[in-house]
Amino acid sequence: MDGSGKFVIPGLWDMHYHFEGAPGIREFNLLVANGVLGVRNMGGAAKEVFRAREQIASGQELGPQIVACGPIVDGPNPTNPPISVSVHDPQDARRTVRSLKAMGADCVKVHDGVPLDAYLAMAAEVKKVKLPLVGHVPVRVPTIQAANSGQRSIEHQIGFRGASTVEDEVMESEKTNDVFAEAMRTKNFRLIPESIAKKGNYILDHFSDQRAHELYRAFARNGTYLDPTLVTDRALTFVDEISKQADPRLKYIPAAQREWWNPERGMLTRYRTPAYIAFRKRQFKKTLQQIPVAHRVGVMFLAGTDTTIPFIYPGFSVHDELALFVQAGLTPLEALQTATINPAKFLGLEQSMGTVQPGRLASLVLLDADPLKDIHNTTKIFAVIIRGKLLSRSDLDAMLKAAETAVRK
Ligand SMILES: [Zn+2]
Ligand SMILES: [Zn+2]
Repeated sequence: MDGSGKFVIPGLWDMHYHFEGAPGIREFNLLVANGVLGVRNMGGAAKEVFRAREQIASGQELGPQIVACGPIVDGPNPTNPPISVSVHDPQDARRTVRSLKAMGADCVKVHDGVPLDAYLAMAAEVKKVKLPLVGHVPVRVPTIQAANSGQRSIEHQIGFRGASTVEDEVMESEKTNDVFAEAMRTKNFRLIPESIAKKGNYILDHFSDQRAHELYRAFARNGTYLDPTLVTDRALTFVDEISKQADPRLKYIPAAQREWWNPERGMLTRYRTPAYIAFRKRQFKKTLQQIPVAHRVGVMFLAGTDTTIPFIYPGFSVHDELALFVQAGLTPLEALQTATINPAKFLGLEQSMGTVQPGRLASLVLLDADPLKDIHNTTKIFAVIIRGKLLSRSDLDAMLKAAETAVRK
C-alpha cells in the first residue's frame, strides 16, 4: 500500500490489562482500533480469556494477541477473591504453580498477601516449569529480594518501599496490624485509605536516593521490568476532577461499570479521606520524578493500564500511558518503546514483533503524524495492519461503532 506521508510504528501492547468478564467484541474492537494489538491479561475470568486467546490465535476472532496469567495467586485473605487462588505455605505455592502451568497460563501473577516462604517457593518453582513470575511485590517480601528472586515484572509502582530506609519496619508492622480485617469487622472502611496514607507518607518521608539507586540497579541487573500503570495512578489520584469531565470515550463503557466509576459509589474511591487524597498527589508526583532516574540506571519500563479501574479505557488509555511517560521525562521514542520493543523482549517475542523490519509479523500501525515529534500523534491512526490484514480508517471507525452498539446491548 502507499504509505507516503505516513508514519509506521509496531503494533502496541497493553502489558497490564484485565478483560471485563468474558472477552468479546467490545474490548477486541476498542483495542485493535487503537492500534493495541497485544495485551497481557493480569487476572480475570481465566477459562474465558484462555479460550479467547486460542480463538484469536487461530484466526476465528479478530482481536489482539493475548498473553494471560490466569487466576491471581494471593495469600490466605485474597484482595480479589473471585479471580484468585490462595497459598498458605511453600507446598501450596509449588502445587499452585504447577496447576497454573497445567491450565495453560502464560505467567504467574502474584499479589500482596503471599507469605515470604510461599513466595520464595513460587519463585523457584516457576523456573522449573518455565513461567515468568509477575505482579505485585507481596507486603511480606522485601522489594530487592523480589528482584533478586527473579520476579520478571513489578506492577503499579517503582519501588518506594524498597527505596526507603524504613522498609523492614513497615514490613514488620504488617504482621501485627491487619487494617483490612479491622475495617471489615468494624465496617469502618475509611481505616483502609487512612492507613495507606499514613504508611505511604512514612515511606516517602524516608525515601533515600542511595537506596533507590541500589534498587534500580538490582532491577536493571535482574531484568526486572517496571510496569507503573501511571494512567491508573493518575485516574485514582485525580478522580474528582476526571469524573467531572465529559469524556466522549464513556460511550464505550457499560452502564454497570460506569456506575462504580462514580467516586461516590466505587469501593476504591468512596471511602477516601483528605489525607489519602493529598498522599496520592504527593506519591504521583514523586513517581513521575523517579521514572527518568530509574531509566538512566537501565531499568526497563512497560506500558500498562490496569483496565476496569475507573476512567481507564480499553485501547485508548495505552496512548495516555505513553504521554505520561513523556510527561515524566522520557523521550517520545523511549515512551513508544515501552509499548513495542520492551514488551516484545519481555515476552521473548522479539523475533516476531516489537520492531518494523522484514521477517517480522505484519502487525503495524500507520499514523498521520510523527509520534517522535509529539507522542500524542500515536492517536492519529490512519490504518492498522494486524497479522497481515489491513484495516483502513473506515474499517476502524466501523469497529468503534460496533463496540458502542455492544455496550448498549
Ligand atoms: Zn495489580
Ligand atoms: Zn491489575
